[in-house]
Parts: sequence; structure tokens; C-alpha cells
Amino acid sequence: MPNIYKSTQKRIFIQEVVTRDGFQAESIFIPTQEKIALINRLSNAGYDKIEVTSFTNPKAIPMLADAEAVMLGIERIAGIQYTALIPNLRGAERALAVGVDEFNLVMSVSEAHNQANLKMSCDDSFKALSAVIHLAHTNQTAINISLSTSFGCPMTGLISLPDLMYWVDRFANTGVHGITLCDTTGMANPSQVQVVCQAVQSKYPNLQWTLHFHNTRGMGLANALAALNAGIDRFDSSLGGLGGCPYAPGATGNICTEELVHMLDLMGLDTHMQIDTLLECSQDLQKLIGRSLPSQLLMAGKVDRLYQAPCQS
Ligand code: ZN
Repeated sequence: MPNIYKSTQKRIFIQEVVTRDGFQAESIFIPTQEKIALINRLSNAGYDKIEVTSFTNPKAIPMLADAEAVMLGIERIAGIQYTALIPNLRGAERALAVGVDEFNLVMSVSEAHNQANLKMSCDDSFKALSAVIHLAHTNQTAINISLSTSFGCPMTGLISLPDLMYWVDRFANTGVHGITLCDTTGMANPSQVQVVCQAVQSKYPNLQWTLHFHNTRGMGLANALAALNAGIDRFDSSLGGLGGCPYAPGATGNICTEELVHMLDLMGLDTHMQIDTLLECSQDLQKLIGRSLPSQLLMAGKVDRLYQAPCQS
């Protein structure tokens, strides 16, 4: 649609996480063929990266127990990075066997959250992930590290910039390609996001920075905009906003891909994304999981959807 307010053509990279972050919060198993079909459709929507699944212990997350079958079943499109969450060395070996493009490693910068989530100290996580990074280097596989609770921890509160930077520094020195700052439980606010994004980019301008927001408290898109204004060009998001939060029952998940893309496109940024494909996939995802998604764009339609004036009788 023509937009007289378009200001810039800056390229923004969108990374889909619905089949990992979204699906892992679902209680009823989604059949492997449905996961594959969804990823194949999303591969034609213009993403730069798709987080396909997680190579976690199948007993811990039964929903993603079919990680190998999904990775092997999808049709890979050239130019898209198909990444997967790798919690440990065992997961990394499984992921290598099916040829993922990137290891997305994860740990929390909050001691309490890391203990609750990964059952080990942050230091032990770092040691374990260092072994995975070594394996990735040996196999020439790209590595991204996702730092959970980068802005706030649901158990201990705000994460200070020095506390975050401590872990950024440690991973930056291991030769990772990118770092994702995750607002795992939707605690970040736009002012904080701006300060943090400026600080990490000015210290490590050559790392690929991704921002991963959850819309738990309705600040998701505002935070994305703050990150954008601070120079960030890469975002994780989830189709339909699917996802949950174990610390906020009933809460919505990641920021919604179609809402993010719709906003960025209207602002004149270049996302390369097919918004209509996203909306169709999101509609079908509602049918697949049997309930409405939090996507407000699905309800209201795009901003160029015009309505007839009500009949006057
Ligand atoms: Zn997340």
C-alpha cells in the first residue's frame, strides 16, 4: 500500500520462533507432519531465519521429541538459516547429525532462573556450553547464544547492565557469531531496551545482535521499536503471538510476527516479508491448536482493510 509517511528502507531481519518457543508451551502434541507443513509454508514468507525445534531431552519437552524428524522432513530454502535450540552437548550431537545451519545455545543470566530452568549454576552452564561451542567450531557450524532473562528475572527482578554485560563479555570472547537478548518473561521496558541495545552494540559492533521480546505485559512492540531506534535490525517473533510463560499463567507469548511485520512495513522498513502469507498461516494455526491466537492483526485485519459505512435507514 502507498504510504506517505515512509521514512526509511532499512533492511530488518525477521526470525520465526513459533515451532520452538510457541509449540513448546502447548500441552497437546502437534503431529510431526503438521509442524513440517507449517515450516514449509513459512519458508515462503520471507524470513531470514527459522528456529525449527529444540534438541532438548525428549522427556523434558515431549512436544519437541520429533526434532530430528522435523529437521529432516522440511524443505530447506536457500538463503534461510534453519536454526535449532541446543541445550547441551548431547543435543548438539543430535543436531549435527541432521545438519542444522546454526546452534542456538541458551542459558539465563539470572542465577535463580538458570537453576530453575536448567538445574545448574550459570558458571556450570557456561562450562557446558563452552564444550558445545568447541564442537560447533570444529564442525564449522554457526553459533548464536540466547541469554534468557537479559532484562529481568521473574524471581529476582531487574537485571543490571553490568550483570548482563558480564555474560555478554564471556560469550563474545568464545567466538560466537551472534547474541540474542531475550526478555523471557516480558519485564523489559523501552527506556531500558534502548540503553542496553546501545551499550552492547557499541562494545561489540561485529556481533549479530537479535532482540527476543515476549509480550507478557503488553510492552512487546514498544520494546521492539526502542531496539529498532537503537540500531537493532534483527528480531525473533512468533506467528500469531503463540507462546506462554511458566511464571505468568495465561500470559501471551512472544511478540506476534504478523503484528511486528505489519508495523515495520507501514513504517517503510524493508522486512522482505509476505504479510498475507503470515496471516493465512496464522489463521490456519488457530485451527491447528483449536483456539484463538493473541494476534490483534488477525482480528482487525491490516490497516488498509476498509469498511463500508453503516447503512442509514
Ligand atoms: Zn522466548
